[in-house]
Amino acid sequence: MNAKGIRVCRIGGVDVIIDYSWVIIFFLLTYSMAETVFPEAHKDYGRLWCWLMGIAASALVFVSILVHELAHSWVSIKRGINVTSVRLFIFGGMAETASEPKDGRDEFLIALAGPAANVLLGVLFSFVFISTMEHMSPVTTIVQWAVVTNMALAFFNLTPGFPLDGGRVLRAFLWDQWNDMARATQVVSRIGDVLAVFMIGFGLLLMIFYKSLLAGIWFICIGFLMKRASGGALQTATAAKTKHEQPPRVTVRQIMKKNPVAVDWLVPVNQFVDDYLYRYFFTEFPVLNRDEFVGIVSLADVSGVAAKLRDFKQVRDIMIPVEQLVAPGPEDDADSVFERMLETDAEFMPVIEEGRLAGIILRRDIANYGQIKISLKQ
Ligand SMILES: [Zn+2]
Repeated sequence: MNAKGIRVCRIGGVDVIIDYSWVIIFFLLTYSMAETVFPEAHKDYGRLWCWLMGIAASALVFVSILVHELAHSWVSIKRGINVTSVRLFIFGGMAETASEPKDGRDEFLIALAGPAANVLLGVLFSFVFISTMEHMSPVTTIVQWAVVTNMALAFFNLTPGFPLDGGRVLRAFLWDQWNDMARATQVVSRIGDVLAVFMIGFGLLLMIFYKSLLAGIWFICIGFLMKRASGGALQTATAAKTKHEQPPRVTVRQIMKKNPVAVDWLVPVNQFVDDYLYRYFFTEFPVLNRDEFVGIVSLADVSGVAAKLRDFKQVRDIMIPVEQLVAPGPEDDADSVFERMLETDAEFMPVIEEGRLAGIILRRDIANYGQIKISLKQ
């Protein structure tokens, strides 16, 4: 992943990275708290106090998101997933992992850990809030803000659309129920898509009717981000599914016979019968003119020639020339070559690579290959 950002510290083997974009949100958040929210709540506080409170409040948002991500990381590591870093960026946080959870149960626990951590923090800050409530101090205000932030983080993240934690929890549940990760991803991605549209709409609403430019833009961006992430997750899951379900492609090269017995095109037909047909017991042979592949000759081509004429004709007179042949390349898919052979009732095809004869492929070899694979599969 891109290394854009500042490595702040390392907690439990996980690098904490602050993306440069986070600086923007930190400033905007501090600004809006210091200039609008706190002066309204505390008309008796000076500007300096409001700014200090703003910074403290933003720092608590930072801590809350960090704890959220670290909770995901901690459970991930416990479930055997290698977490390299936690990155905080303009729209929140993200734990960067080297692998995906192996089953629905693991994903369920990992996804739930983040919001659970915020609920715990929220409860913790509530105690502080209650114990300082008597004398409304700056601490009370900031802690109150922290309670709201953590509850909001927990609830927002539990929205059941991918890629939010709630979407992951739902996916884990469905994954466990259906035992089909791709199908579960499909469902939560769709919900994520719908939610994304709602968020974009909500953002527009905030901007137009409530004049909340910052919150509006934030929701719109989150909406677009969610839309992109849910599309990406869907693609990954579908790709993983096709990769998982389809056996690896078998190429012609894996099955073809290399260095096949070939006959020179100037060989008389009689000699071809004695030295090739009766010697190798193949019924079809590739024909070469020096190194160049020029066609194929078969038993059927010979039997079409009257016996007394076989002394006067050469292989080149009776062969099927290369222009009339269907010849696959070595990288072609063996299955589709097999189908083509069935359609044209061909038992044999020359394999051509860069104009040269690379080998021959036999229909029965492809069939046997498939048979062997099926038999040996547990
Ligand atoms: Zn989370």
